[in-house]
Amino acid sequence: MMAMTTEIDIERARAETPGVEHVLHFNNAGAALTSTPVIEAVRAHLDLEVRIGGYEAMQAAEPKVRRTYAAAAALLNCDASEIAVMENATMAWAQVFYGLAREFKPGDRILTAEAEYISNYIAYLQMAKRTGCVIDVIPSDETGALSVAALEEMIDDRVKLISLSHVPTNGGLVNPAAAVGRIARAAGVPYLLDACQSAGQMPLDVDRIGCDFLSFTGRKYLRGPRGTGILYARSDALQGFEPAILDLHGAQWLAADRYQVNPDASRFENWEFNYAAVIGLGQAVDYALEWGLTPIQARVDALARRLRNGLAALKGVTVTDLGPKPCGIVTFTKDGRACASIKDRLARQAINVSVSRQSSTRLDMEKRGLTEVVRASVHYYNAEEEVDRFLEAIDQL
Ligand SMILES: *Cc1c(COP(=O)(O)O)cnc(C)c1O
Repeated sequence: MMAMTTEIDIERARAETPGVEHVLHFNNAGAALTSTPVIEAVRAHLDLEVRIGGYEAMQAAEPKVRRTYAAAAALLNCDASEIAVMENATMAWAQVFYGLAREFKPGDRILTAEAEYISNYIAYLQMAKRTGCVIDVIPSDETGALSVAALEEMIDDRVKLISLSHVPTNGGLVNPAAAVGRIARAAGVPYLLDACQSAGQMPLDVDRIGCDFLSFTGRKYLRGPRGTGILYARSDALQGFEPAILDLHGAQWLAADRYQVNPDASRFENWEFNYAAVIGLGQAVDYALEWGLTPIQARVDALARRLRNGLAALKGVTVTDLGPKPCGIVTFTKDGRACASIKDRLARQAINVSVSRQSSTRLDMEKRGLTEVVRASVHYYNAEEEVDRFLEAIDQL
């Protein structure tokens, strides 16, 4: 029986994260360091494939594979039949977006937010070119978050999709996903939420959010293996839904002139999986659930606050995060220093960050006159001492 704790046991979290011995890792929004249980689960399956063969290992590991669906469902508060396991978040998202957009007519509207992610926006542009649909960007409020009041004003019967990033790739902003959900529900408009940067760093409840579809990746705040993603599709939204791409796994070939789409979210998947990674993803979700998403969020927020306050106090440093209550992604610039050179200087001290460039969230960055920012994204297994060492390193640049 596991002890009920409301705080993260930081010593245990670090002991179970081999990477912390080698790097100060503030690139959790890129790919977080994986934990021992995840690494062991992936290795065990690869070993099994070596010993008995890939198809045979898949059969032997079926309960573990099924656990990945159940774990993702527990994370999101949904049914396992509403979960599809994908190779990444982009494909999960695209299966829904291109499935919906196929039906768009000239003048149909997609509503999105200012901090929208590059790949999603490119997809909107492609479908605008192909179908004549229109992309309308919901303005932000004075805090920099999506304005719920503005969204409410924009709703009309030409709105065919509301699609946005919960947390953008370029900063700590948390968009008001649940308030958007209430508006989408009331208007009867499909709502697709990109939760790549929020999954694993804060609680996510699809009923509370009110989204029809939600996608996320395994490698970021969930600390899962690379090459994994999850799609949630609400059971009512599944009725009659045709994903962008179908194969022998997502549909049945019934007769020469007929196929039938699977009844559950497996319709979005395709046949081939990296099973070691799928099993590792299930372990990563279970590992996050074991700590609890509320304690994880509390610690991530506390570390991010320490980092943000420390950066703001340094000479020449500007913190660039938006929103009333920013999360674990901390972004900044330093006068007279290119972000790439900051990243390189830090790398020489085994400190990992990344650089968010204008093109990754173009609308937001252009509006604010930003060409690039340094992104230092913290996780619960990071230590206060690492935050302080990081601040020292930035000051010394
Ligand atoms: C990382 C990211 C994606 C893409 O996820 P992949 O798993 O690399 O496909 C999409 N949206 C946002 C907001 C992201 O940060």
